[in-house]
Amino acid sequence: MNSIVEAIFQHAQKQPERPAIFFEQQVISYGQLAVRVERFAQALQARGIQAGDRVALFLNNSPAFITAYLGIQLAHGIVVLVNNQYRKVELSHILQDAGVRLCVTSAAGAAEILPLTITSLHTLVLIDEPTTAGAIEQLSLSDFLRSADNEHRQHSITLPQADDPAVIGYTSGTTGRSKGALLLHRNLLANSVAVTSAWHWTERDRLLLTLPLFHTHGLMVGIHGTLLTGASVILRQKFEAAEVLASLQSNEDITLFFGVPTMYSRLLAEIELQGIKPRQLRLFVSGSAPLSPQVFNEFERVFGQRILERYGMTETIMNLTNPYEGERRAGTVGAPFPGQEARIVDVQTRRPLAAEEIGEIEVRGPHVFTGYWQRPDATSEAFDAAGWFKTGDLGWYSQDGYYTITGRARELIISGGYNIYPREIEDVLEAHPDVAEAAVVGLPDADMGEKVVAVIVPTAGREPQTAEIIAFCREQLASYKKPRQIVVAASLPRNALGKVQKHILTTQLQSS
Ligand code: ATP
Ligand code: MG
Repeated sequence: MNSIVEAIFQHAQKQPERPAIFFEQQVISYGQLAVRVERFAQALQARGIQAGDRVALFLNNSPAFITAYLGIQLAHGIVVLVNNQYRKVELSHILQDAGVRLCVTSAAGAAEILPLTITSLHTLVLIDEPTTAGAIEQLSLSDFLRSADNEHRQHSITLPQADDPAVIGYTSGTTGRSKGALLLHRNLLANSVAVTSAWHWTERDRLLLTLPLFHTHGLMVGIHGTLLTGASVILRQKFEAAEVLASLQSNEDITLFFGVPTMYSRLLAEIELQGIKPRQLRLFVSGSAPLSPQVFNEFERVFGQRILERYGMTETIMNLTNPYEGERRAGTVGAPFPGQEARIVDVQTRRPLAAEEIGEIEVRGPHVFTGYWQRPDATSEAFDAAGWFKTGDLGWYSQDGYYTITGRARELIISGGYNIYPREIEDVLEAHPDVAEAAVVGLPDADMGEKVVAVIVPTAGREPQTAEIIAFCREQLASYKKPRQIVVAASLPRNALGKVQKHILTTQLQSS
């Protein structure tokens, strides 16, 4: 097998009736999915899309997203994933950068795209009816699919090869402008094989998925794993704590749930509000941002099972995972997936470090992308001669092989010559009963180079005393790590995946 899309044709042949996707009132079997994907691919070819052409998805979660995603791959196109919250500035950057020829979107999405000048873009396919006129051709999905005329339908479609490009995933833009990571079919497949085997994922599983599909976590972990194993997914438009809780309580077929840390804290708050005892699942997974030991422990207390935390990124999909069997350890992301390697190196000398020494995490293996789209400089900077990829994240591993992420290399604070890892201070702050969330940044300081500043969101109904909280940090950490200043805020600036956008915080703090 060479690709994820090949897997669905195998399942469709063996068990066409098997449900693949549940969405609102619809159930789509593997047989139906295969037919839809093939038709989508034929329509793309009829519209002149050729191997290597970029086709973007600017859509909310829906079965059409999955059909289009696989259809583009079957037509040997390259899928360009676009965050559905992006508007004109980000959209024109991505569509232009990737040289997108065709974009699948909604009428609302088209209204954002039509005013832009994207020279390569000639067709918009709308999953609903066009409402705004514009210079670019617009087709409804049904008209588009009708373009797969008899001539194209007789053409049998060949499956993509392992070395063909499959997807350009744009990074979340947490540390700057997002970069396009080009992944090949073999990267997607190798990763999904590793993930499904590590987590014992089988066709008997049913995943409740509320994560956005434009991002690695929802798509390349959730959907790929489902389709590779022949399992099924209950797909939602978005996460709502009360709805998720009701689904978990009432639908006994659900075995898996994947979330970002904010989803878990909201779920726990909802459980407390409703005063119920939640049902256990085979597996709860957390990733995309650090899961605080508080939430990890609270989850275990309430559910009687542990969340499995793992670490991944757009460029590599999944890298490190806590064990399925064996100890899942709070604050850690476990060890490399099967068939992959990881190490810690000194940021300056790039020399590999021993256990318990903090440095940059590097990874290597069949899951790692080939390079940034049209960014040879960024690509050569990101890899060393032996093929190790520099993740840009800092961390260390324990004597028994568990990795801990201490933050991003770019967010390291150097104060008075000391290296300070924001994550360590955030964990201490979040352990304080008055603090619900915390983010630590370094601000310029004439005396120290940088100074530690913390922004905290209070626990509901509490009024944190900042002097007392600084004293609390001082009791548990070396004095140079304690925040010099604490700012109380109603919320933290987070993106769609719940990642704190520290560059926004820094700008806000500097201008206040
Ligand atoms: P950009 O590269 O554009 O700045 P980004 O790195 O946030 O954005 P993604 O590829 O979506 O874009 O996210 C990957 C990053 O998310 C990782 O490099 C890491 O910093 C963070 N991350 C993922 N999982 C975890 C985790 N379990 N704990 C801590 N951080 C995590
Ligand atoms: Mg990144």
